[in-house]
Amino acid sequence: MTSDNVQPIFILNDETTRTKGREAQRMNIQAAKLVAEIVRTTLGPKGMDKMIVDSLGEVTVTNDGVTILQEMKIDHPTAKMVVEIAKTQEHEVGDGTTTAVVLAGELLKRAESLLEQEIHPTVIAKGYRLAGEKSRAVLHDIAEEIEDKDRVALLKIATTATTGKGAETAKEHLAGVVVDAVLAVAHNGTVDRDAIKIEKKIGDSVEQTRLIHGIVLDKERVHPSMPTQVKGAKILLLDTALEIKNTETDAKINITDPAKLQEFIDMEEQMLKRMTDKILASGANVVLCQKGIDDVAQHYLAKSGVFAVRRVKKSDVERLAKATGARIVSNLDDLDKAHLGSAGTVEESTVGDEAMVYVKECKHPQALTILVRGGTAHVIAEIKRALEDAIGVVASALTSRKVVAGAGAPEIELARQLRIYANSLSGREQLAVQSFADAMEVIPRTLAENAGIDPIDALTELKAAHDKKERWAGICVHSGKKMDAWKQGILEPLKIKTQAVSSAAEVATMILRIDDVINGETTVPSARPNPGASLE
Ligand code: ADP
Ligand code: MG
Repeated sequence: MTSDNVQPIFILNDETTRTKGREAQRMNIQAAKLVAEIVRTTLGPKGMDKMIVDSLGEVTVTNDGVTILQEMKIDHPTAKMVVEIAKTQEHEVGDGTTTAVVLAGELLKRAESLLEQEIHPTVIAKGYRLAGEKSRAVLHDIAEEIEDKDRVALLKIATTATTGKGAETAKEHLAGVVVDAVLAVAHNGTVDRDAIKIEKKIGDSVEQTRLIHGIVLDKERVHPSMPTQVKGAKILLLDTALEIKNTETDAKINITDPAKLQEFIDMEEQMLKRMTDKILASGANVVLCQKGIDDVAQHYLAKSGVFAVRRVKKSDVERLAKATGARIVSNLDDLDKAHLGSAGTVEESTVGDEAMVYVKECKHPQALTILVRGGTAHVIAEIKRALEDAIGVVASALTSRKVVAGAGAPEIELARQLRIYANSLSGREQLAVQSFADAMEVIPRTLAENAGIDPIDALTELKAAHDKKERWAGICVHSGKKMDAWKQGILEPLKIKTQAVSSAAEVATMILRIDDVINGETTVPSARPNPGASLE
């Protein structure tokens, strides 16, 4: 074989696409910027909401960054990496998801113009890494410490998180509910966010949202002749059905004699009776079952004055286990008195037109439920998300006690100090750190834009104030003027900012370092030739 007759070698599958160099960078940056662009208009107290309709026609109306991105089912691999930082933010802090994504988008946008100036991506990445580290130090430095369990400060933090989330009229009330809840579950400086259950019930108004000490289930007791209230409840948590199991395979029983049929039915009844007898023998007077309860079993339980609920959600069963000290029972043969949990009262009472089950005065007093009320399903869903954000920030502030003011103040201060830091560096990294500093200003700029305020005027005024050591000068979204965000009570936990800046810097550097995208994903898997077919 002569050298000019070399066969090309394919090491990739036919369907694999490959993009390299500047083109790959350009596409990745574009994708990340698009994600940031989507959520940008929702930032801040004057941010707008989005309506997302999924493939089943289910509608979500929300202002919450992470919810928007999750519901949108984003497909692009780089865009997904940006969505991941919103998820991390949600998991770590519970709020600040839009901020993190907007920052990442802006960092990449600034990096793009550095790339155009022929600055190598690894130099930009290094500069961003340095700036990210410096940012954390600056933020720690400017943060202020609040007193332990400082209720007033925590209320302000909760209010800031619910601002602009469709709960304006009730935001003080909701903040109170959240702070009470978090303080109640706080233990040795840690907060178990999962101990707070949020249950939704349509009806009434958002102001009627309230905190209940105990666990509320959106369920009714299975049989009307069961008691509506049980004092000194001994609770059995079951995760199997109180029913006769259907056979896995289709079975047919031929019965020729009517008496035989009756015998068959009687036998089933006997089996169910034996099941309920086992329950009664354990001393349980409340049965909360994750699966179904057969009519016959319902009848026997009701006859003995047992309160029973069926199809309780798995997450609730787990929560109930924690709250009442019960062990979840899977097999009635193993049932023992020691497996039962206890609560002062279990009762059914009506909220609006519908009944709900309350498990109160639990053995473990930290079990709480926030019962969200509101006019429509969409309203209460959004209130629930706002409450989750608020629980996150209050918990974060309660554990670390480090707090910053918001309204763009920390970002302007960060930009100012990063510029000073940039001057201490030499070479091209300096340019990258300066770009990082500029990128931070996207937060106050967006807050202004979303409020219909001229961003250039607002930023000029804010920067001048920070140069004069007005550390908490932020933007007033009503007047467009500067204000002291701390004095105005716009407080946020430090972690919301450090986490957002760190994740944004990390994802931006990761994306910048990619210069080759090899994509073997096939959009239509069924279109692939069947490998077996070619063998014939
Ligand atoms: P995120 O998902 O990032 O939390 P939000 O839509 O909740 O996005 O907006 C948060 C931003 O709004 C923060 O920068 C916060 O400081 C700012 N903010 C909250 N309340 C106010 C207010 N009353 N005035 C000005 N800015 C505010
Ligand atoms: Mg928020």
